[in-house]
Amino acid sequence: MEKIFINQVGFLPASAKKAVLNFDAPEFKVVDGAGTTVFEGKTSHFGTDEISGEDTFVADFSGFSGQGKYKVEAGFKESVTFAIGDNVYDKLMHDICKCFYYLRCGAALDKEHAGVYYHEPCHLSKATVYGEDVPAVDVSGGWHDAGDYGRYSTAGAVAVAHLLYGVRFFKGLFDIKFDIPAVKGDNGNLPDILAEVKVELDFLMKMQRENGSVWHKVTTFNHAPFIMPEDDKEELFLFSVSSIATADIAAVFALAYSIYKDYDKAYADKLMERSKLAYKWLKENPEALLFKNAEGSNTGEYGEAEDFSNRFWAAASLYEATGEMKYREDALLQKEKVLEFDRNAEKKGYQGDVLTCLGWAEVAGLGALSILLKQDGDELEKEIRERFVKEADRLIGNAKENGFGLCMKKEDFIWGSNMELLKYMMILTVTDKVIKPTQEYKAAVHSGLDYLLGCNSMDISYVTGNGEKAFKNPHLRPTAVDNIEDPWPGLVSGGPNRGLQDEIAMTLPKDLAPMKCYIDHVQCYSLNEITIYWNSPLVFVLASMM
Ligand SMILES: [Zn+2]
Repeated sequence: MEKIFINQVGFLPASAKKAVLNFDAPEFKVVDGAGTTVFEGKTSHFGTDEISGEDTFVADFSGFSGQGKYKVEAGFKESVTFAIGDNVYDKLMHDICKCFYYLRCGAALDKEHAGVYYHEPCHLSKATVYGEDVPAVDVSGGWHDAGDYGRYSTAGAVAVAHLLYGVRFFKGLFDIKFDIPAVKGDNGNLPDILAEVKVELDFLMKMQRENGSVWHKVTTFNHAPFIMPEDDKEELFLFSVSSIATADIAAVFALAYSIYKDYDKAYADKLMERSKLAYKWLKENPEALLFKNAEGSNTGEYGEAEDFSNRFWAAASLYEATGEMKYREDALLQKEKVLEFDRNAEKKGYQGDVLTCLGWAEVAGLGALSILLKQDGDELEKEIRERFVKEADRLIGNAKENGFGLCMKKEDFIWGSNMELLKYMMILTVTDKVIKPTQEYKAAVHSGLDYLLGCNSMDISYVTGNGEKAFKNPHLRPTAVDNIEDPWPGLVSGGPNRGLQDEIAMTLPKDLAPMKCYIDHVQCYSLNEITIYWNSPLVFVLASMM
């Protein structure tokens, strides 16, 4: 079918602007709400690419910057309505931040702040320590992780890290208001973003044992059926501690310390104390303690292949926060182990440079961000800067291979491909804003945002409530059973996945182009789930544009 694909939310006046056509039209125009033509141009033929399978024509209207609402017209087709304006991403930013509030566990969501999406208190019972004869533990609070009601330490730490590194690099995040109730322990002076993150930090503190180690996760034994959170009354279990969770928590508490100390010294000191306690346990337990699900349990595993990247992140973050050389020495040592493991790995879950990886399984890039923040100007920082530039250039290479300017290759369309994209957008953003300002990096970040918001061959916005054709059926328990037609706005879908790893996904043809391996269906957990750490990198990237 002939279509005009476009970012359905819109563009900043000064940013690059384009639509992508999958049919041959030599000319196009941009028209306003009154039907007046405000811009005319010629399309350029890109040809057929591997990731979309479309024969694409690009309509570039970067030269037009008038603020207002418009459509692109070409041939006998027109695009959806989009906006150009200084505040064009304000609602999007509000919505993606507010999602963390909607995902809160423990206390009820009230009608004043959650509107129709309120729910009763949930998951307040104490959790049984699996396989141990010790008293049950209160680990209430935090955020539900994803479409399920589990709470996972590594996933939570990484989502918090994206948000807090965002705060460190881009101060504009402090000004984002998203209408949340007061948070326990906040005397009213925390910016919304720090108040909301405190909810998760408080929970993560409860996940730490007295000896400093951290439980990998707290969940029911098996995933709840599709019910509201308050109806999920099954026993909660704390599954074993892991060195990956302990290292991630050491890292993120040290990072949080450096931010919260300006607002609440006592709270920040507690974070630092807990970070050092976790680190002490890591030093006393140098062997990796990875994580496997208990026999018969089917909640998220979040397994990792090694813990060097986690230990590198912990050491780098503590070094950045304290300036103590012993952490720097550890960071150098662990960095070499990360690289050695990477050289010898037979199968990798990532493309590109491991020291730029910013996801839940590979966190070395988060440690690299701490090194960039430290600004020592030494060999280590130089190496990190060079690696980011090289990785950004690799991504620019990818972007030149398709008509959408998308920095992804076929191999990136895995489970949660939108996070692969968002991590790449973070790398491009950091490289452009912190290391080497480059027009091509900026353009690639914008093309990524365009893709996410509708300029893709599915013609769909992957953020609920943002864009005329936004996806509506996330694999998310509350929205599936709350009898409200639309999900709450601001949820980022996992997106296309060539693996087609659920029953509904398997109904798609096997030879589909990667970009088309998607269905907006509530049961499609391998294509359409949501998670806290798919929202958090978008907050980071958008913060750089505010
Ligand atoms: Zn809950």
